[in-house]
Amino acid sequence: MKIGVAGIAGRMGRLVAEEILGTGAVLAGGTCLPDDVPPAGISRFSDISALAAAADVVVDFTHALSVRDHAAFLAGAGTAWVLGTTGLADVDQEAVAAAARRVAVVQAANFSPGVNLVLAMAERLGAALPAEAYDAEIIDMHHRQKVDAPSGTALAIGEAVARGRGADFAGLRVGGRDGHTGARRTGAIGFSAIRGGQVVGDHTLLFAAADEHIALTHRAFDRRSFARGAVRAALWLRDRPPGLYSMMDVLGMERTRA
Ligand code: NAD
Repeated sequence: MKIGVAGIAGRMGRLVAEEILGTGAVLAGGTCLPDDVPPAGISRFSDISALAAAADVVVDFTHALSVRDHAAFLAGAGTAWVLGTTGLADVDQEAVAAAARRVAVVQAANFSPGVNLVLAMAERLGAALPAEAYDAEIIDMHHRQKVDAPSGTALAIGEAVARGRGADFAGLRVGGRDGHTGARRTGAIGFSAIRGGQVVGDHTLLFAAADEHIALTHRAFDRRSFARGAVRAALWLRDRPPGLYSMMDVLGMERTRA
């Protein structure tokens, strides 16, 4: 199986290239912007159409502005697509959906297999543990440079709990408690964000009842878990029919988006 990498000079692209070589699959090569310095010894393609023609599947960690072009060229060439780029506008997402009618696409905002398993388990725990008895709290810790809180993954975990409970997440979300907040509202899904040091990403989902606590923690130590998940998705795409798949599909679990 020949796997190409769009954005091969980037932080994710480099790791994806390493992971492809580690699996024994063929690294077809990659694309990068003119000023980028790609890793040594790889075939550099002039653009996505050339890469699409040379690969069975393209793993893409680039920029949202590339998504519409990539969707058109990969669909036109019949090349499968693993899309990790985030920050897509609605119109980009529509282009992804259109491509997925012609080729197989795996799209995930978080390719870490562990995070996707946590999302699936969060939904099941939410369904199993009644909101009246089990208070759901999500704690995330990230490095000091992170500008948003709670993290996107923390919010995805909260959404999964709400989905499991058949409840509307927006109405239950509570964060930034400070001062005289009043008692905890039944069914609320609470968020606490810790920032400091160089933590890549820690997430804990806690269900606190009067007589027991259940805690589920995921720790990411580096980006390699995302790269490994993306390559796993690329290998899974072999001979898949057209469609828009999630990492949950790759993992053989109930469909949930990261
Ligand atoms: P990065 O800036 O290190 O790398 C992106 C690379 O793509 C850069 O070298 C850039 O020059 C290049 N690029 C941009 N447009 C291109 C194009 N049209 N053709 C070829 N190359 C192009 O960023 P990163 O940390 O590798 O992240 C890239 C994207 O992946 C971001 O959207 C990020 O949010 C996302 N991401 C997703 C996951 C996940 O698990 N889904 C994990 C990490 C990052």
